[in-house]
Amino acid sequence: MRDILPPDSDRWRRFNSIFTEVVEAAGYGQLMTPLIEDVGVFTRIGEATDVVTKELYAFEDRGGRHVSLRPELTASVCRAYAQHRPTPPWKVWYTGPNFRQEKAQRGRYRQFDQVGVEVLGVDDADLDVEVIALAWDFYRQLGLQRVDLVVNSLGEPDDRARYVEALRTHFEAAGDALTEQSRETLAKNPLRVLDSKREPDAPFIASAPQIAEFYSDDASAHFARVQDGLTALGIPFAVEPKLVRGLDYYRRTIFEFQGGTLDSAQNALGGGGRYDGLVEALGGPPTPGIGFALGVDRTLLACDDEGVFASEPRPLDAFVVDTAGGSEALTITAELRAAGLAADRAFDGRSMKAQMKLANRSGAAFAVIVGTDELAAGAVVVKPMAGGDQQTIPRSDLIPHVKAQR
Ligand code: AMP
Repeated sequence: MRDILPPDSDRWRRFNSIFTEVVEAAGYGQLMTPLIEDVGVFTRIGEATDVVTKELYAFEDRGGRHVSLRPELTASVCRAYAQHRPTPPWKVWYTGPNFRQEKAQRGRYRQFDQVGVEVLGVDDADLDVEVIALAWDFYRQLGLQRVDLVVNSLGEPDDRARYVEALRTHFEAAGDALTEQSRETLAKNPLRVLDSKREPDAPFIASAPQIAEFYSDDASAHFARVQDGLTALGIPFAVEPKLVRGLDYYRRTIFEFQGGTLDSAQNALGGGGRYDGLVEALGGPPTPGIGFALGVDRTLLACDDEGVFASEPRPLDAFVVDTAGGSEALTITAELRAAGLAADRAFDGRSMKAQMKLANRSGAAFAVIVGTDELAAGAVVVKPMAGGDQQTIPRSDLIPHVKAQR
C-alpha cells in the first residue's frame, strides 16, 4: 500500500475529474458503495478466481460478521442494484480504492484505485460499444497513445459451457506437461488456463480449441454488431480469441485495454465485459450487466512512460511576506483568497530573507511585501518572482493588480 504525496496527488484528482466529465456527459450517475461488504458479496464473483480464493482481505468483525474489504466494485454495484431496485437501465460510475493481497510490484499493489462504469438492465450490443468507447475517449483525453484494445466474446452461457468442456478435454490430454498451477486452475476453471503466461503451458494454449467454433447464431450476431459499432466509431481493436477474464459470470463481449509501455504481466490498464447472473446471485431479478474498471495506478504509470498527463498543481498567485509583525499577513492573505486568488504566506515571524526564500520556493507569481514603511503608507510592494521591477502600490489596488498581471 502506498502513500500518494503532493504534488503527485494532483494528478489523481484531475484523473477523477476528467473521468467524471466523460461519463456524466454520457448519462452516468455516481454510485458510492461501502469499502467493506459481507464477504458473500465477493465470493459470488467466482469461486475459481485468485481474487476470491487467495486475495480477499476478509475478516470477522467485532460483531462476528464475516466481512471483506472490496477487491473490485462490480459485485458491490450488483449488490446495490439488488438492494435498491432502481428502474433499469441503471447507468452508474464509480471511483475508489480496492484491496487485494497480491505480491506487490510495479503496477501491482495491495491497495489500488479504479474508476469504472456498470450498466444494468440492457442487452443491446450498441451499449457494449458505448461502454468501450467511453474508456477509449477517456484514455485519449489523458493523452495516452499507446493503448491497445482487445476484444473477445465468450458466447452465450451454453456456448461457453461447451467450450469449457472442450478445453478441459484438451488440457487434460496434456497431463503433467502442464504446469502444476495450471493443473490446479484446470480443475476449477479451464478457461483461466488460457490466462497462463508460464512458458511450459504455451504450446498447449496455442493448440487449444477456439471459442468462435462454439458460438450460437445469437452470440455471433451480437459480437459482429459490437465490432461493426467500434469500426463505425473509428476505434481500432483486435479480436483476441484467448482473452478471458476473471469473473465466472462473463458472457458475450469481454475486452481489455493494454498499455504498450508496461511489462506484459501488468500491462492491463483496464478491462470489462458483459455479465449475467451476478444481480440474481445477490438476490435481485435476472438482469444483464456490462461494465469496465480501469486501474488508476497503472494508467498513471503508462502516462509516466509516455510522458503525458504530468502533475500540474495549481500555482500560487501570491506569497505574502510581512516584516511589520502585525496582522497584515493574516488579512492580506485572506483578502487574496477571498478574491479567488491562490495565496500563501510565511509563519513564525521569520526574517525578510527567510520569508523571501520561502516565497521563491513556493513558485508564486508575486511576492506581496509589507514592512513598517508600507504599513504606515497604506501600501504594499508587489514583486514579480520571475524577474522584473517591483512596484509599490496602494493596498486597495492589490487585488486588481495581481489579477490583471496573472
Ligand atoms: P480486474 O478487476 O482484475 O479486471 O482489474 C481491472 C484493472 O484494475 C486492471 O486492468 C488494473 O489496471 C487494475 N488492477 C487490478 N489489480 C490491481 C493491483 N493489484 N494493483 C494495481 N492495479 C490493479
